[in-house]
Amino acid sequence: MSQKQIIIIGSGFSALAAASYLAKSGHQVTILEKNDQIGGRARQLKKDGFTFDIGPTWYWMPDVFERFFADFGKLPDDYYSLEKLSPAYSVYFGEADRITIGDTLDKICDAFEAEEPGSSKTLIKFIDKARKNYDIAIKDLVYRPGLSPLELVTPKTAVRVGQFFSTIQRDVRKAFNNERLALILEFPVLFLGAKASKTPGFYSFMNYADFGIGTFHPKKGMYEVVKGMASLAKELGVHIQTSMNVEQIIVEQGKAAGVVANGQRLEAEVVLSGADYHHSETLLPESFRQYSEAYWERKTFAPSSLLFYVGFDKKLNNVDHHTLFFDVDFEKHAEAIYDDAKWPEDPLFYASFPSITDDNAAPKGKEAGIFLIPIAPGIEDTQAIRDKFLDKILTRFEMLTQQNVKNSIIFTESFCVNDFVKDYNSYKGNAYGMANTLLQTAFLRPKLQSKKVKSLFFTGQLSVPGPGVPPSLISGKLVADLINKS
Ligand SMILES: Cc1cc2nc3c(=O)[nH]c(=O)nc-3n(C[C@H](O)[C@H](O)[C@H](O)COP(=O)(O)OP(=O)(O)OC[C@H]3O[C@@H](n4cnc5c(N)ncnc54)[C@H](O)[C@@H]3O)c2cc1C
Repeated sequence: MSQKQIIIIGSGFSALAAASYLAKSGHQVTILEKNDQIGGRARQLKKDGFTFDIGPTWYWMPDVFERFFADFGKLPDDYYSLEKLSPAYSVYFGEADRITIGDTLDKICDAFEAEEPGSSKTLIKFIDKARKNYDIAIKDLVYRPGLSPLELVTPKTAVRVGQFFSTIQRDVRKAFNNERLALILEFPVLFLGAKASKTPGFYSFMNYADFGIGTFHPKKGMYEVVKGMASLAKELGVHIQTSMNVEQIIVEQGKAAGVVANGQRLEAEVVLSGADYHHSETLLPESFRQYSEAYWERKTFAPSSLLFYVGFDKKLNNVDHHTLFFDVDFEKHAEAIYDDAKWPEDPLFYASFPSITDDNAAPKGKEAGIFLIPIAPGIEDTQAIRDKFLDKILTRFEMLTQQNVKNSIIFTESFCVNDFVKDYNSYKGNAYGMANTLLQTAFLRPKLQSKKVKSLFFTGQLSVPGPGVPPSLISGKLVADLINKS
């Protein structure tokens, strides 16, 4: 294999992962990132002594991170330290009414029993099946590059074919009659970007990630993982340049020959884009694009989000590091995301208070709060709408958690559709890429290698295997393998 000059567009998790694999194989790798901070959707916001992760806050599937670092003879611990959250999270269903999810399956069984006597036996069986799916999916299937449907056909998947045609919602509700427990078990597939009623039952491996393995917090926040991966890449010789906006991918004789960034031509033998797939193709002349606007329009995109980063001048009560607010009708909210794109009347929301666990997140005696409302991509985004929704959720938050917080706010920063487009060139301002539905799984997703331009590759959450930090790490490995074979 010859040593090549490789340009990577973007510095999200998939790009950073790919860069390390490619540099380890001996290539000359340069990352060009348009923003002044690396990390893509996982950037960091610092303000008045508070530190917020702008994007991901849930560290799941630690084995995927271990496998990544092990490929370089390293441990995650060489770059950041992890703490298992206890409790993992809690879920509000009404005023002072919440279910707490502990850090072991035993504790979660106790919570299920308290809610519905007898449900823990069903839960143990459900999680055992989910564990078997996890072993097949996360240890094997997701490491296949999505080139052919045959990749999914193995003796282990053949006996589970029914699970590809059933849905998480059907399987959960067959086993659990209790609405609240069913909602908790349907929550993890939200990370895959689609409704539980549209996600294949096989994806119950997310329930094993949740209840079987647990939720972790990297000390000082998720951005430490970005920094760790960037350090590894630099140790391997990767050159990272920020504030470099790629304006064009140059194609000569049907082959990627480099890029134009900040008006400057930069030569390369291979171009790999870790930016949103749709945007990456707009950097090409139209005849070299593989997917039409109509193609993207037809796809089920994962939600966008309205996010708030709030500094509170006191510690808050009755909340955990991760707290979910499921006190309203999720079906109605989901319709407003997937079926009839509009602002939801009464949204579910998620809140994270990293300063409960981590002193680095806020000054002493204060609380850092991150609030997230999932919304349809592409809907109208104005300051007035943001303000209205902040007030809406804080009013509910005060009632549900029984405390006043509005008068304890030092500052609020927000992030929504327009910022996703402006900061990341995200298609319709999606937050989590393209959803993993049955028809958007593996070989049915946008391909890692261009079919029209030689030496042009793609990686990241719109490609294989899909949304989330662990899949992005895997995406980087898969594309690096393809480049090495090309
Ligand atoms: C609010 C939010 C919460 C999330 N929560 C979780 C969570 O808790 N756990 C989890 O596992 N996952 C979570 N995710 C998903 C996870 O963050 C993403 O799947 C992952 O970070 C995507 O990485 P990526 O490599 O695909 O690309 P991105 O992070 O999107 O990076 C792409 C990069 O390309 C750059 N770029 C774009 N265009 C150009 C250009 N023309 N020139 C140069 N650079 C360019 C962008 O600036 C960006 O840095 C969350 C995402 C969001 C947005």
